[in-house]
Amino acid sequence: MPDKDTYDYVVVGAGSAGAVVAARLSEDPSTSVLLLEAGGAADADEVSIPAAFPTLFKTRWDWSYTTTEQKQLCSRRTYWPRMKALGGCSSMNAMIYIRGNRADYDTWRDQYGAEGWGYDDVLPYFKRAEGNTRLGGPYHGQDGPLHVEDRRYTHPLSEAWVESAVASGFKPTDDFNGAVQEGAGQYQVTCRKGRRCSVDRAYLQPAIARDNLTVRTGALVSRVVLEGGRAVGVAYLLGREERLAYVDREVVLSGGAVNSPQVLMLSGIGPATHLREVGVDVVHDLPGVGQNLHDHPAVPLVFHSRGTTDLAEHNNLVNFGRAKAMGSGPLVSNVGESGGFFRSREDLAAPDLQVHFAPTGFYDNGMHEPSTRKLTVAPTLVNVASRGQVRLRSTDPRWHPDIDPAYYDDQADLDAMLAGARRLLETVRTGPLARYVDRPFRPEQTAPSDGELVDHIRRETQTLYHPVGTCAMGSGEQAVVDPELRVRGVDGLRVADASVMPMVPRGNTNAPTIMIGERAADLLQGKGTR
Ligand SMILES: Cc1cc2nc3c(=O)[nH]c(=O)nc-3n(C[C@H](O)[C@H](O)[C@H](O)COP(=O)(O)OP(=O)(O)OC[C@H]3O[C@@H](n4cnc5c(N)ncnc54)[C@H](O)[C@@H]3O)c2cc1C
Repeated sequence: MPDKDTYDYVVVGAGSAGAVVAARLSEDPSTSVLLLEAGGAADADEVSIPAAFPTLFKTRWDWSYTTTEQKQLCSRRTYWPRMKALGGCSSMNAMIYIRGNRADYDTWRDQYGAEGWGYDDVLPYFKRAEGNTRLGGPYHGQDGPLHVEDRRYTHPLSEAWVESAVASGFKPTDDFNGAVQEGAGQYQVTCRKGRRCSVDRAYLQPAIARDNLTVRTGALVSRVVLEGGRAVGVAYLLGREERLAYVDREVVLSGGAVNSPQVLMLSGIGPATHLREVGVDVVHDLPGVGQNLHDHPAVPLVFHSRGTTDLAEHNNLVNFGRAKAMGSGPLVSNVGESGGFFRSREDLAAPDLQVHFAPTGFYDNGMHEPSTRKLTVAPTLVNVASRGQVRLRSTDPRWHPDIDPAYYDDQADLDAMLAGARRLLETVRTGPLARYVDRPFRPEQTAPSDGELVDHIRRETQTLYHPVGTCAMGSGEQAVVDPELRVRGVDGLRVADASVMPMVPRGNTNAPTIMIGERAADLLQGKGTR
């Protein structure tokens, strides 16, 4: 084994991509890997029990980011939870298993020059990761480490929403990740027998005993150490102490869409003018770092319900015990149980909107005390035109950067969201769901005008937790990494996480990020190149 502070690879961040990269690289016993994670172990019951994920928000598990004032959201600063622990956001997310649309990956290739990332190229990596308990055939893997299953609990309201969506014109589907994405149905979840299957559970824990894999928690990477245009290691803070770790081969940044550009900029790699402004010595002027930030905005449409229950009222010790001991009962709900994909305009080639339906009042990023019972249907914009940025506020790595997702800065996004909200109000009035709907809660009008609906959108839009794009892959001037995920102009340094997506896929981003981790591991080993 090499000297204890030198490894073949150092991977920064044990999230949806980083944990996969470290676990896959360490399958080769002759390769040594150091995985550095700012947070700790993800060992709380609230990580395992699916419905408990919002209770992790604003706790020690959470980076608890806040965006800049959003001009189009009544100048609100919006809250962004991100998990700070092994597994990253896969230890906190809502477990919905979605890959995106074929058109997304073909656009990465054709529009951004991400050669090797078209749908037919990435499908084998989705399948390699996937252990689906129901679906097989050309689109699904059944032997991969990431367990995907039909949820073990579905609230009757979620069944009713799907029937109502179908009654109002959606096609029913039992597979959003097959040949056709459009339609309405129940989401499959990344769970194993009713408990969360994060990348910590799926990839890291099975690998952690390997002699050639070192996992260090509580280690905040502050910069990449560069010598003569090459990454030779990283500096990190362990408590108040600064330490160094060196590489014989490469450094891989997997800190996610907020933190990877932050670490690059702290290392002097980024837009030169901005770096000088904050007092960082410029090592390599790379204008795209931190740019191209975008996210999926979601708008809760919340109703008082009747003749049924609210998921939140099942939150008691008995159900907690059932979920913990047996992986059964209402708390194995992932909250956003059902949904679908649709188009805001007939002339679009692919869906631009997704639905998340929750059998509870889910707004302001959480469930609420069920003083009155509620249900929520949330249009979510998945093909986003607006672009924002992540910028440094300080040279201190512990300071949160400025995060500006620029929600609705492009009017097309607001127009699409308005059309989506209108369309989903129909699903609530049609079919079996209608008899469970007592009266509107937010917005409060029974038949809101366009103006009232736009007001509601501005007041209630929140993140769907899918920021991407800040170290975009491609071949243009704004690209930060090339299609092999190498930072342009710097040797020995790659980025592998959601930040490399040049355009967010139409759907939830965990499975696509795991796919990136799988492909990054191949690229690092010289496999899968073109
Ligand atoms: C509340 C919530 C709900 C979501 N729901 C879903 C869902 O249902 N389905 C879905 O598909 N997706 C969902 N997502 C999104 C999905 O989980 C993320 O897109 C994905 O996990 C991002 O992976 P990543 O590897 O880019 O970053 P992360 O998973 O965030 O990993 C980054 C890791 O790096 C660590 N780190 C950061 N900076 C440093 C540093 N300087 N030094 C050391 N370590 C560092 C972090 O602590 C973290 O562990 C959700 C996300 C959230 C937050």
